[in-house]
Amino acid sequence: MREFGYQRAYDVSGAVALLDGDPDARFLGGGTNLVDLMKTGVERPALLVDVRELPLNRVESTPDGGLRIGATVTNSDLAAHPEVRRRYPALAQAVLAGASGQLRNMATVGGNLLQRTRCGYFADVTSPCNKRVPGSGCPAVEGEHHNHAVLGASDHCVATHPSDMGVALAAFDAVVAYETADGPGEVPLADFYLPVGETPHLETVLPPGALITGVTLPPAPVAAVSRYRKVRERASYAFAIGSIAAALDVHDGRVREVRLAFGAVASRPWRARAAERVLTGAPADAETFAAAADAELARAKPLPHNGYKVTLMRNLVVAVLSELAEEATR
Ligand SMILES: Cc1cc2nc3c(=O)[nH]c(=O)nc-3n(C[C@H](O)[C@H](O)[C@H](O)COP(=O)(O)OP(=O)(O)OC[C@H]3O[C@@H](n4cnc5c(N)ncnc54)[C@H](O)[C@@H]3O)c2cc1C
Ligand code: SF4
Repeated sequence: MREFGYQRAYDVSGAVALLDGDPDARFLGGGTNLVDLMKTGVERPALLVDVRELPLNRVESTPDGGLRIGATVTNSDLAAHPEVRRRYPALAQAVLAGASGQLRNMATVGGNLLQRTRCGYFADVTSPCNKRVPGSGCPAVEGEHHNHAVLGASDHCVATHPSDMGVALAAFDAVVAYETADGPGEVPLADFYLPVGETPHLETVLPPGALITGVTLPPAPVAAVSRYRKVRERASYAFAIGSIAAALDVHDGRVREVRLAFGAVASRPWRARAAERVLTGAPADAETFAAAADAELARAKPLPHNGYKVTLMRNLVVAVLSELAEEATR
């Protein structure tokens, strides 16, 4: 491990100034991803700017009935917050489905959104990897890819984004707020992650040196009946091989409003808009749910060893929407 500097920031402008747009400096949240990557040499920052003392650790209601979540709110505090549990239960469930209690006590909202892929080649500095070393190749395409992407990938990278929290945030139209030396900015989560294309090393639209300050959830009454379902290779403490966040409002047997996002199938939390279009106004039954899943998954391009994800996601959509439909009409 190479030597690095450490500074603690106490206010937002101070944090941005300390980082000073230095490409060799990184903000440090809980450190649960960044420090691991430093140990293996994937990340080699010269300076860490610790953001955990910033006044960004609150979850607050917005005047329009949404929620603003500070970037340094821990995953544990987010999942336990009564308004999150009441208004956006799928978000609390998604966070609780991730990692372990100890990790969630350390991990922050900002760090969770920017955590790196769990592709084994990315984590192994002796392997080529276009995301880690642009232009070096992607061994996963012909190698180990059973938990890689089936949607929105490219020949240059087939990695998935590992966040559970991000999937629920995508379903609920979250907006990410950030601060740079030039002032504040914000971007919908739907536009936050860049398409993979030929540049998988470029992951988000955040300007260089930007500090994530928080995430805003617009009001979404439909989210009160919502669910996060995660499938993994063991019952706990494992990343998803497929997951969905779903919310459903049913009136007179028809879908009045729906939100659907997929996890562990793409380089970003995947908002299932094609499925939502099929569902809206249609009968709230298993046939419609299956047709909606098929509409979304028609674009899937599975590799030789991850085609099971297409069937898995179809089954998840039908199962979770059926449960929500029953709950919504009770
Ligand atoms: C064993 C293990 C199992 C896990 N299982 C899961 C799981 O099942 N589901 C899941 O979703 N996650 C899982 N995680 C990942 C965990 O959720 C992330 O490590 C965590 O959310 C990252 O948060 P952090 O605050 O520790 O980020 P850090 O490690 O501190 O930072 C991560 C990245 O974000 C940047 N960053 C941090 N804060 C900011 C900010 N405010 N502004 C700009 N940049 C910032 C850092 O510079 C770094 O690049 C697991 C992790 C481990 C180690
Ligand atoms: S899938 Fe992406 S992260 Fe994994 S080896 Fe290929 S380029 Fe690297």
